[in-house]
Amino acid sequence: MRIVTVLGARPQFIKASVVSCALSRAGLSETIVHTGQHFDANMSAVFFDELEIPAPNHHLGIGGGTHGQNTGRMIEAIEAVLDGVMPDWVMVYGDTDSTLAGAIAASKLKLRVAHVEAGLRSFNRDMPEEINRVLTDHASTLLFAPTDGAVRQLKLEGIEEAQVCWVGDVMYDASLRYGEKAERVSGVLDALGLERKGYVLSTVHRAENTDSPRRLSCIVEGLGECRDVVVLPLHPRTLGRMRSFGVNLPSNVRVIEPVGYLDMVMLEKNARVIATDSGGVQKEAFFYRVPCVTLRAETEWIELVEAGWNTLSPPEDGHGISESIKRAVGVEGMPIRPYGNGDASERIASCLKNWGPVGTRVAAQSLQETPGSLVRAGRPGLTVPGRGGIDERR
Ligand code: UDP
Repeated sequence: MRIVTVLGARPQFIKASVVSCALSRAGLSETIVHTGQHFDANMSAVFFDELEIPAPNHHLGIGGGTHGQNTGRMIEAIEAVLDGVMPDWVMVYGDTDSTLAGAIAASKLKLRVAHVEAGLRSFNRDMPEEINRVLTDHASTLLFAPTDGAVRQLKLEGIEEAQVCWVGDVMYDASLRYGEKAERVSGVLDALGLERKGYVLSTVHRAENTDSPRRLSCIVEGLGECRDVVVLPLHPRTLGRMRSFGVNLPSNVRVIEPVGYLDMVMLEKNARVIATDSGGVQKEAFFYRVPCVTLRAETEWIELVEAGWNTLSPPEDGHGISESIKRAVGVEGMPIRPYGNGDASERIASCLKNWGPVGTRVAAQSLQETPGSLVRAGRPGLTVPGRGGIDERR
């Protein structure tokens, strides 16, 4: 069975690192297409090196344009690769322009799309990520949901039950695999002269925050009001916007270059509080039991807010952010386990294997058009494992 993985952005490299390993263990052949969406060495190459992700078979070198330009160019270039390979599955991750481009290119060729991290919603259609998620889910044949809430959401949107497979969160798998390694190999705390639990870690990169001079200034002001040192590994887009908006950094805020994953994990584990607008970093805060303040008005990972591990702090209120950070110190939420058992990537590999190869474009088309009816008809090898094809945990 041949799988083409389309990726291009930092969080996708981290997610793909564990899934690629599981695919290879399951004997599935993978071709990796890197769109080029993230291209700086510390936003891309470092993850391939550290996490031992196989080198991309195709590098499309597309980035730096508007959303529309990037997505359009990616669709064209991905289509050319897919047309040559004609895989059984096209795997896409998360919610970026690369995700949507992969899903559109594949579905136009009648190839089956498997979406990792399906069913998440912020219900904020102003976010480019929200549009990418919704469209990708609805172009996918197989939807790997990380949480119960994601499974419910897909059902509400009318997606066939048999297409949805609860697997847990692949980022949790990554945290288990690399959490201890980070402790062993990362020297980032010493290099930055940081005390364990003596600093706040922050990341800011969402367009809704970085592209608004008011929000960006409020966030920086809020971080500046903290008594602690705030370590801010800065996404290139945020740095660019800060410069063009003339945002000055308070003296307690230490901007550093984006770091590799192992250094990031080490910084997360040892932070007193994490303040972030990143989806992945919110979850990692929980994995390492560090209280989190989310610099947004809403989140896709609502279970962490409900359980008290995460607080939403709208980015229009700088003082509110510093108060939220102060209140979060030492807070522990309820004991929940929403992201599975650390075997999401294995479940994904076995699910793909169980759906079986397609082999020809015509067969892919018929499967894509009627996946539910094929499962209901009980054709061997097409049923998603687990009860009713929906939840493999129990
Ligand atoms: N990350 C990293 N280095 C950094 C900042 C983040 O390795 O300097 C990792 C982080 O640990 C998480 C992922 O990047 O695994 C999150 O990516 P990002 O915040 O860019 O995207 P999002 O999760 O919001 O989609």
